[in-house]
Amino acid sequence: MTDREAIHTIGLLKPIPIHAFNPGPYTGDGNWTWLIRGRVTTLIDAGTGEPRHLEAVEQALQSAALSQVIVTHGHTDHASGVTALAARFPGVRFLKMPWPERDVRWPAPWEPLDDGSVVSAGDDTLTAIHTPGHAPDHVCLWHAESRTMFCGDLAQKGSTIYIPPNLQGDLQAYLASLERVLALRPVQLLPAHGPVIDDPDRLLRGYIEHRREREEQILELLRSGESSPDAMVVRMYRGLKDTLVPMARESVLAHLLKLEHEGRARRAGASAPGAAAPEADTTSEEQAWHIIDP
Ligand SMILES: [Zn+2]
Repeated sequence: MTDREAIHTIGLLKPIPIHAFNPGPYTGDGNWTWLIRGRVTTLIDAGTGEPRHLEAVEQALQSAALSQVIVTHGHTDHASGVTALAARFPGVRFLKMPWPERDVRWPAPWEPLDDGSVVSAGDDTLTAIHTPGHAPDHVCLWHAESRTMFCGDLAQKGSTIYIPPNLQGDLQAYLASLERVLALRPVQLLPAHGPVIDDPDRLLRGYIEHRREREEQILELLRSGESSPDAMVVRMYRGLKDTLVPMARESVLAHLLKLEHEGRARRAGASAPGAAAPEADTTSEEQAWHIIDP
């Protein structure tokens, strides 16, 4: 057993971290998936189907069958491994919260998870907590007895979480998800990226504070007459590498859309503050944004 494994011998679950072997520009060092052995052997997140991941899962199963895979959300690095897992582990079940437009990419006999679904895992149960924001279908899996949460992409130590409006990311929903998780008072978050989070309260409250500061910056820019998200990116993220500009732009848009939803900012040509905008509009290059002063 490695040190990392030893740390996670928690309660009855004893989740085993298994790396997905998928490092890359969007996944950093790559993803962690979590295996829970016992009566209902459960893998949390599917990885991307890397042969070394499948091998590692098989080894960790110690000749037990894999009963089910629970996918935290439909992003490629969490869901695309389902086809390879289905082929390697016949009879395995796949569970996730539906995101129909996205789920068609990952052909598997999905069984739907809802907010509050209680799922057997190992010799115990987990509760699905709908935590939209990073993705509309994002769920965390909560083990109340040990106050442990498999948190997917809700949080990552040493980093903030990307909220992409062009993939139905929603900052307002994300902040509500953070508050919801904080209210559960978890003692440990087991994420899909990076090390285990053993101070959830501090990290999640830090995220909320960070977004509040970013929002203040954007309000200040709007007050000064800046109306272009692209120009805001230049002023807010000095010295940003070109390759990271689209992500920064999505983050600025996420804030602007939150302000719009709250009736505090509007787009030129938008019918009314807070009115739902067509999806395609969220990434329009041309839109000018304005503050609505109370
Ligand atoms: Zn993700």
